[in-house]
Amino acid sequence: MSAPLDLGEVLSAGRRSFSFELFPPKTDEGERVLWQTVREIEALKPTFVSVTYGAGGSTQDRTVRLTGEIARDTTLTPVAHLTCVGASREEIRGVIGQYAAEGVRTVLALRGDPPTGLGSTWQAHPGGLEHAVELVELVRSLGSFSVGVAAFPEGHPESPDLDHDARVLALKQRAGADFAITQLFFRVEDYVRMVDLATAAGCTMPIIPGIMPVTNVAQIERFADLSGAVFPVALAERFHAVADDSEAVIELGVEVAAQMCQQLLDAGAPGLHFYTLNRSRSTIEVYEALGLGALTG
Ligand SMILES: Cc1cc2nc3c(=O)[nH]c(=O)nc-3n(C[C@H](O)[C@H](O)[C@H](O)COP(=O)(O)OP(=O)(O)OC[C@H]3O[C@@H](n4cnc5c(N)ncnc54)[C@H](O)[C@@H]3O)c2cc1C
Repeated sequence: MSAPLDLGEVLSAGRRSFSFELFPPKTDEGERVLWQTVREIEALKPTFVSVTYGAGGSTQDRTVRLTGEIARDTTLTPVAHLTCVGASREEIRGVIGQYAAEGVRTVLALRGDPPTGLGSTWQAHPGGLEHAVELVELVRSLGSFSVGVAAFPEGHPESPDLDHDARVLALKQRAGADFAITQLFFRVEDYVRMVDLATAAGCTMPIIPGIMPVTNVAQIERFADLSGAVFPVALAERFHAVADDSEAVIELGVEVAAQMCQQLLDAGAPGLHFYTLNRSRSTIEVYEALGLGALTG
């Protein structure tokens, strides 16, 4: 069984947190690619790996199974994502119990997006939870879990302004959150401003920037659109100039991500969280470019 993640301990020992996000694959081939990635990531000794949680029963079962396998069969610390989408409080309690039974002790507590897509109005399950902050409280009440939450450098798409988001992040910390991971973003200044606002609102927990190295131009533009992040025009132009050469796109993606990661660390970020899309090549190359090598040891 993995211990609850103690990021405070990692950071107070003078280290930074480095982590990777994975998703549960739907096919045998996806599973093979994922496990190859898991083994390559394992060699880097990251602080944790997180596994996303989708809408619908079978994907959710896969998240429980995959985080359990990571807890049992690898040296990695798994962080299981969990959302409030389409589930009653009792059903959510059931999933938290399954995580505990699988040896998973750290949960990323999220509200989730409306199943009908971003832009439609969020409606909580009649017997469910309205906001992520309630999920933080619920997970905390059910045992010795460590809890992470989401943060949004460019603001959550439903929020009136960035100050509101900062107050919500502070509420999540007061409810028991230990750390936050950000939505993907492309401008360092958005992260720095968000951390300043969160600090002013009373947040002291580590806020780890989420980074997605570009590997495919159309895909990153779609992700940026879906998450409400701005893919800056000047950056888009650099990628479009090499868009016909997939190798050149990957190389530029590594160069841009490594530069951004260095700037974030220089600005005081407590670590980096990589959105891998289950492939390790770009993230490992970013590591190498940053001179990180094997990590926490
Ligand atoms: C690192 C990361 C990982 C993610 N992983 C997943 C995943 O695995 N599966 C998935 O489906 N989605 C995932 N998401 C997406 C996430 O579920 C959505 O962005 C969702 O829209 C917001 O989730 P939240 O936890 O921030 O919600 P909340 O904190 O509930 O915020 C949602 C909105 O409500 C507002 N709000 C919150 N609390 C209050 C309050 N008390 N009073 C007034 N307003 C309030 C917020 O300001 C915001 O506008 C992830 C996002 C991130 C950043």
